[in-house]
Amino acid sequence: AINEAEYIWRNGELVRWADAQVHVLTHALHYGTSVFEGIRVYETSSGPVGFRLTDHIRRLHDSARIYAFDLPYDEAELVAACKQAVTANKLVSAYLRPIAFMGYGSIGVVPAADNPIDVCIAAFAWGAYLGETARTEGVDVCVSSWNRMAPNTAPTGAKAGGNYLSSYLISREAKSRGYAEGIGLDVDGRLSEGAGENLFLVKNGKLLTPPASSSILQGITRDTIIEIARTEGIEVVEQTLPREMLYLCDEAFFTGTAAEVTPIRSVDDKPTRAAGAGPVTKLLQERFFGLFDGTTKDQWGWLEPMQSQ
Ligand code: PMP
Repeated sequence: AINEAEYIWRNGELVRWADAQVHVLTHALHYGTSVFEGIRVYETSSGPVGFRLTDHIRRLHDSARIYAFDLPYDEAELVAACKQAVTANKLVSAYLRPIAFMGYGSIGVVPAADNPIDVCIAAFAWGAYLGETARTEGVDVCVSSWNRMAPNTAPTGAKAGGNYLSSYLISREAKSRGYAEGIGLDVDGRLSEGAGENLFLVKNGKLLTPPASSSILQGITRDTIIEIARTEGIEVVEQTLPREMLYLCDEAFFTGTAAEVTPIRSVDDKPTRAAGAGPVTKLLQERFFGLFDGTTKDQWGWLEPMQSQ
């Protein structure tokens, strides 16, 4: 269940949580014509901060651009709206869910006159995505029988509603088989990503991750971990990876706004060599979470204050 807050930002105003409704003939409900973001707000000693808020809003605009959705709000307006959604609900830490979707009007797949693009931002309290113990002990995952979308079908580089039918199949299959999450392969059978997380492997001290061309969403947490690793002098290689690297690596972990940095303990019932959080994963977790308790200096400007100064 969602931890309901009081208000939702909708098309420029705050409406009560229960009043943020849509019509059943909303275009996006039928065709998946939406683009969205997931953003975490962390509590820090200097107040709530949005983690890479502006980068997330830029990606929302990029996703909209891929689908030629005309967003009625520019990046600065949406960043301000996110802040408003957090402060209006008096949240100190939160998950933010901005969504822009093709609204009510015509029901044709491509309406002659475009339906309105509605924009909403929900903010609510949310804990660890893959369970509270996942962060320390790691999760057991499987490779899915479902592949990720092939190139030139539905672009995985857009964070679009319709893409999550793929994520749904991958994650649902994994959970029904008793795993915490499923990993998708791309159309060539190479490693791609988790249903809602990017994938990293550690092999001989190097950090390996599938490239943009492996049908992934280029996660903002993925970029964060690459930056942090390079700062720590760890070599990072973005390369296509065969499935068997899952069984041969020393360590594996997921990254994502929801999953943060979650160690992978086993894949397809085979424990990774570290069988949980190995030394590189632990170091990267420590530096990542250190951003929010001040033990990692934010030299990148990733922490954006949510309260108007
Ligand atoms: N891949 C998919 C399919 C996702 O849904 C997400 C979550 N947004 C990610 C990767 C991780 O992206 P980010 O780190 O930007 O949250």
